[in-house]
Amino acid sequence: MSQGTAPRYPLVLVPGMLGFVRLLLYPYWYGIIAALRRGGATVFAVQVSPLNSSEVRGEQLLARIDEILRETGAEKVNLIGHSQGSLTARYAAAMRPDRVASVTSVAGPNHGSELADYLEKHYPADSAKGRLLSVLLRLIGALMSLLETGYRGPKLPVDIPASHQSLTTAGVALFNQRFPQGLPLTWGGQGPELVNGVRYYSWSGTLQPGKTDRGRNLIDGTNRSCRLFARTFVREAGHCDGMVGRYSSHLGTVIGDEYPLDHFDIVNQSLGLVGKGAEPIRLFVEHAARLQAAGV
Ligand code: CA
Repeated sequence: MSQGTAPRYPLVLVPGMLGFVRLLLYPYWYGIIAALRRGGATVFAVQVSPLNSSEVRGEQLLARIDEILRETGAEKVNLIGHSQGSLTARYAAAMRPDRVASVTSVAGPNHGSELADYLEKHYPADSAKGRLLSVLLRLIGALMSLLETGYRGPKLPVDIPASHQSLTTAGVALFNQRFPQGLPLTWGGQGPELVNGVRYYSWSGTLQPGKTDRGRNLIDGTNRSCRLFARTFVREAGHCDGMVGRYSSHLGTVIGDEYPLDHFDIVNQSLGLVGKGAEPIRLFVEHAARLQAAGV
């Protein structure tokens, strides 16, 4: 890609639950940032609380956007959120549409995650299993924050019940009542692309036997986890990426919702190990050109 396809505004990449910028040398957006920069884009991978509500994460994101605007002199940013990062970006855009040119949801649970619903039902917070899960998440979060080398800032607050609530179907329905920008009006439909001057886009993948469970995913344990998690889906059984359903991911213009990518493949995890024929980085590079063409 030439400089001519670089978006006008900086790209700000927002991670999902248990997200990070870099664990030791290992980046969350594996190979994606370099590819976007090769196209001439200005790119920032930001960190927000790995375990917290979309609203708390969104406030942290707004603070980072302020810093990025000061640092770059840009008037706005383009937000690209993976998973819960999509809800985080939607919050920031709803609160400050003057500072956000676009929100792009990558495998975002914009109508909730059936995996979160399953965990709420089978691992309730007041049960022994639920408490064990909470302790486990807290330990993983603590370990990850020790290994984080890409974030330098104050210690980020942890709220596991709020984090979980922000991902269930009921929790996201409440969030959507307050922040409906870009949502489709009908299940499986597309949403408006332009709301309050902010452009909305989404893409997502599904597990596709023979594709997503082949290729380099044969040696990626996260694909096995996705296949296991997919069994908890009812409404979108057979049409999910392991953590988010195909239609649940819809926001604004739906670029695609059936890429052969599991929930981790879509950000080129782990270490670029993806299924047969999958090209997750290409989707980001193409999207940078789409944003540029839209004038943002
Ligand atoms: Ca993978």
